[in-house]
Amino acid sequence: MKYLPTIGLEVHAHLATKSKMFCGCKTDFGAEPNVQTCPVCIGMPGTLPVPNELAIDYAIRVAVALNCNITQVTYFDRKNYYYPDLPKNYQISQSHNNLGDDGWIDIDIDGETMRINIDNVHLEEDAGKRVHSEGSGTRYSEVDLNRTGTPLLEVVTKPDMHTLEQVDAFMNDFRSMLLYMGVCDCKMQEGSLRFEASVSVAPEGASELGPRCELKNLNSMKSVLKAAEYEIGRQTSVLKNGGQNKQETRLWDDERGVSARMRRKEGSADYRYFPEPDLILLNISDERLARIRDELPEFAGRRSKRFQTEYGLPAYDAGVLVADAATADYFERLAAQTNDPKAASNWIMTEIMREMKDRKIEIEEFSGKVPAHRLGALIKEQKSGTISHNIAKEVFAEMVETGEDAPAIIERKGLRQISDTGELDAVVEKVLAENPSAVDDFKSGKKQAVGFLVGQIMRETKGKANPKVVNKLLAEKLG
Ligand SMILES: [Zn+2]
Repeated sequence: MKYLPTIGLEVHAHLATKSKMFCGCKTDFGAEPNVQTCPVCIGMPGTLPVPNELAIDYAIRVAVALNCNITQVTYFDRKNYYYPDLPKNYQISQSHNNLGDDGWIDIDIDGETMRINIDNVHLEEDAGKRVHSEGSGTRYSEVDLNRTGTPLLEVVTKPDMHTLEQVDAFMNDFRSMLLYMGVCDCKMQEGSLRFEASVSVAPEGASELGPRCELKNLNSMKSVLKAAEYEIGRQTSVLKNGGQNKQETRLWDDERGVSARMRRKEGSADYRYFPEPDLILLNISDERLARIRDELPEFAGRRSKRFQTEYGLPAYDAGVLVADAATADYFERLAAQTNDPKAASNWIMTEIMREMKDRKIEIEEFSGKVPAHRLGALIKEQKSGTISHNIAKEVFAEMVETGEDAPAIIERKGLRQISDTGELDAVVEKVLAENPSAVDDFKSGKKQAVGFLVGQIMRETKGKANPKVVNKLLAEKLG
């Protein structure tokens, strides 16, 4: 018998606002524990929440980008539970009146479009963090409430995926959309983007899905795929051995590569939801919705197609450049500067990406050191023949180091390419006189000897000789 796995994803994204969802506390990652807190986010009696309008805008932006139906009059609920990292004993969330419902995105699988349906998009606040410590033989947990109240967007897909490749494509496309919209920094290692997968397996052709297991503690996209693969294997083997799978929550252990049962899944009745009495209805006006729709960016897929048609770039180049919105922006500025999109693309994909990797910096920081107009000036110097390609690379390294302009570096270091025939003539004569055997080799038919001679001339001129002029002079002198 064949078995069909079915996978749905739940995404939690910290919205990239400077302050929390219902108070003015900062949301910076990595601050001293418990310094980014106030009476509102730690739930002191007598305090009142005030919604962060930018967080609501960001949430609507995502719901609109995911083609959801937007609930224009909605409200927040209290989701009640007890946990040491939740001093209020409830989380403000949405459960009955999601901001967005019934959306979809199209992903690309081997050139074919596949639609992944979105069940809902809703807004909530994050809880704090427990830090497990082991000191002097006693085991204990510490609580850090900095994260408490951080605006958290939850996106739930329908169980539409059946292969790991589809899950991978969805995660990458969705992450790219969040980055393009600037609503989340998507740093999975800092927990600002988290995926949970629910996996079920049923005999192929069965009318119902199998009981689903929710997988938690997936700290990277790689662990999502590894955990889903493990879970599909585990559930399939239970079925093959005549057993039955149970609905449960399982904790993924990335180091050991296994999942273990964590707890029975809570029913929603356990949370005793009721409308948050301290907040009024959230009323999204037509104007606000229209403005947010208008502000949606051109996403990576469409932008890649445009780069191919508008700039004539190969699909590969376009794909690399649009993977990051800021890199794609830099490319567009550089292409406009140089009037040579392919040269701009080559510089980004080789020199710039290497610098970024070596220096462990992002394009924003690189662009602070070498803005597109400065690199554009360097590329122009190279194209006009003032400097050779190799010298251009040398000047580029200097620009990154010092922040100086290309023409200034070329002048200061005397790197201008020697194209003057008279000046080069003397060098060529000298090299020919010093290397009679190479000249003889060439004359007796060993054409590759000319490469050696060009190399010697380049060495004499410290790489500054114009290769075209050198080749012309050599051809004349060697007959
Ligand atoms: Zn606060």
